[in-house]
Amino acid sequence: MCGIVGYVGFRDATDLLIEGLRRLEYRGYDSAGIAIHQGDRIECRKRAGRVQELEKLLESDPISGSVGIGHTRWATHGETTDVNSHPHVGGNGEVVIVHNGVIENYSTLRTKLQALGFVFRSQTDTEVVAHLLAHHVEEQLKLSDDAEGTEIYVRALEITISKLKGTYGIVAMFRDLPDVIIAARAGSPLVVGVGKGEYYVASDASPLVGYTDEVIYLQDHEMVVLTTTSIDLRHRDSGQLSPNIHTLDQVSTDTDLGDFEHYMLKEIFEQPQTIANAMRGRFNEDEATAVFGGLNLDPQQLRRIDRIVLTACGTSWHAGLVGEYLLEEFARVPTEVEYASELRYRNPPLEDNTMVFAITQSGETADTLAALRECKRKGHPTLAICNVVGSTIAREADGGIYLHAGPEVGVASTKAFTSQVTVLTLLALFFGRMRHLSYPAGKRMISRLKEMPEIIERTLKCNEVVEEISSRYSQFNNFLYLGRLYNFPVALEGALKLKEISYIHAEGYPAAEMKHGPIALVDEVTPSVFVIPRGGIYPKVMSNLEEVKARKGPVIAIACEGDTKVADLVDDVIFVPDVEDYLQPLVTSIPLQLLSYYIAVNRGCNVDRPRNLAKSVTVE
Ligand code: GLU
Repeated sequence: MCGIVGYVGFRDATDLLIEGLRRLEYRGYDSAGIAIHQGDRIECRKRAGRVQELEKLLESDPISGSVGIGHTRWATHGETTDVNSHPHVGGNGEVVIVHNGVIENYSTLRTKLQALGFVFRSQTDTEVVAHLLAHHVEEQLKLSDDAEGTEIYVRALEITISKLKGTYGIVAMFRDLPDVIIAARAGSPLVVGVGKGEYYVASDASPLVGYTDEVIYLQDHEMVVLTTTSIDLRHRDSGQLSPNIHTLDQVSTDTDLGDFEHYMLKEIFEQPQTIANAMRGRFNEDEATAVFGGLNLDPQQLRRIDRIVLTACGTSWHAGLVGEYLLEEFARVPTEVEYASELRYRNPPLEDNTMVFAITQSGETADTLAALRECKRKGHPTLAICNVVGSTIAREADGGIYLHAGPEVGVASTKAFTSQVTVLTLLALFFGRMRHLSYPAGKRMISRLKEMPEIIERTLKCNEVVEEISSRYSQFNNFLYLGRLYNFPVALEGALKLKEISYIHAEGYPAAEMKHGPIALVDEVTPSVFVIPRGGIYPKVMSNLEEVKARKGPVIAIACEGDTKVADLVDDVIFVPDVEDYLQPLVTSIPLQLLSYYIAVNRGCNVDRPRNLAKSVTVE
């Protein structure tokens, strides 16, 4: 994961890098560091912990200059210590780099470099890149008469990366090349910002907002050499390239907390709006269907699709599971949801007319990107459902649908989940109307969907009840989350939320499946959260609930307003509005988001920055 930012120009790089790192902190917050060219050397400051720890260090020990690089880390190799923080120094300070990704052959390289006399200061995989680069710079200098020439350093970096296995976005600076930064990418995102007399490079466009809206997205195996006045873009195989400059739009850095204590709570309360945004302009009332601007496939191609694969990770995978149920029910298209990390290495038979949707909030998830590429390589139409405009997956997919949910800062996804589910409901309507769904049924779906923002507003009124209930459940160490049909993915998502931010063990299960194992866990100190709105198989879920009560398990129920039958049976009930079965995930997921939020707050956990996690998972 990690966030990278680099700058070469005329501004004070320190302030700019720090501001950039703050905007990138969602990508990792184990440590932060910057390096600035200062006179005849490169000065580094780095610290374990959040960017604010680095800022404190800089207050007491400042550095300044107009060329620099910065990094906020999500550790893969080596603990979260000061010394393992980036930037990493190669040789005796000739080279300084920041890196996003994983160097898989680091151990072999480390042994070789140690044999050459390089002294390692950290436990990271990244440090081998720094020393290897220093080694090749030294070698190239020996071979050349022109010690100042940028080409020597470019060549050294080319040789270095040819020896790396794994993934990287690297930005390097060199002691003896004061006005240059060089960036290279394979598997980890990098974007170049083009200014006047200045260039930026970053993991995503957020650090550039307010400075420039002209960007170049680096592709894999590209390298870019930046000075204040020049940009030199090259590809490993095809040599020099002319940069393709895009205009950045819709990147929002609006991350104001308003009156909320945490981003997660703010984002939960944004859902009436974000669900409305996901639907805006996407209905064709006359034809009783949904419309999407960016699918980039003609109706004939779309009609030929006879199988859909949804691939995703984490919360997006749960949204995908809701999508599977929706697409099979309304469009009657056989649909599967695949973990991207499995799909990328598995080789399932995908017939010619299989369409692949990658679902990802950030659009940068490494496994989802790899799965998408694998399917694309095999000739399948690939589409993305993602939130971040201009992200790698959004750009690489053949087409896609944006969520328009605005920046999601809380690491535990909330509004992105309900937006994904909304978009998947629209897709079910869209594919349904191309196949079996009648005009009246399409009309009915549209009017039900249009009611959702107001219904979600009403659902959020459970906030106080959830807060009150949460205080009675914060001390438990194990939870079960149970639901059936459309509420089974909701149960999975509820359990994931609790795990993510409160570090309580929780398992999501189809309520009836519980009898085949998890019921053995039920006792007085293992609460079960039952998602039991009225609808299809309500009486069956009721029996499952009775089975838990018979074994003295405490039960919290998410039930429909006015359901006294459930209320009388359970320990605590959270009421939500009654909606049709296929819309229930949008409603029932909300009290579960709130429950995990308040339990985590009661336990004193860092809700927006849970341990060990990062918002955008850009390593596999
Ligand atoms: N593998 C590197 C490390 O552990 C970089 C991780 C990242 O991408 O944040 O330091």
